[in-house]
Amino acid sequence: MLPIERQQQILTWLEHEETLRVSDISKRLEVSEMTVYRDLKPLIDEQKVFKTSNGITLKTQSYISSNHCSYCYKDSNTRMSVQLIKKNQHVEKACCPHCGLLRFQDIENEVSQMICHDFLHTTTISAKTAVFLLNADIHLNCCQPQVMAFESIKQAKQFQMGFGGNIFHFEEAIQAITMEMHGNGGCHSGK
Ligand SMILES: [Zn+2]
Ligand SMILES: [Zn+2]
Repeated sequence: MLPIERQQQILTWLEHEETLRVSDISKRLEVSEMTVYRDLKPLIDEQKVFKTSNGITLKTQSYISSNHCSYCYKDSNTRMSVQLIKKNQHVEKACCPHCGLLRFQDIENEVSQMICHDFLHTTTISAKTAVFLLNADIHLNCCQPQVMAFESIKQAKQFQMGFGGNIFHFEEAIQAITMEMHGNGGCHSGK
């Protein structure tokens, strides 16, 4: 079988089975796992298939379209929404910085840019240079722990004086959210 035929076969299997293990593919095709990886590489590069913890899967179509958050699948509300612009030009939306940051953590290698809205001005800002206020005492009706983005640290601090919470930069914010999420129900748990 030619590599292209094997790739076609893998895609056909994936359409029916959703996920496949590399070891299974290797057995079915009677080629080495090394060869399977070589066959998969262009498919992964073209984002036709995705690596998972124990194999590969077809791209899930659900989050590409519409206004659903790609992390928690809630409708994304424009004021808080975050856009993850991927290297393949696709854009994913997240309902709020909370989901945006967690989603970023999952697909970091695919993201070329992440854009969020300044909470006070609703101007668009780059997430990497934004500051994030976690757990301010204001009910935003989105994901817990609540995360708000600010363009300027000065304004974030002013906001913090009134509403409390903790201020983090990009990388720290991801860690802080992950830590808080650890062990509880996750994104959907409201107040
Ligand atoms: Zn979300
Ligand atoms: Zn949210």
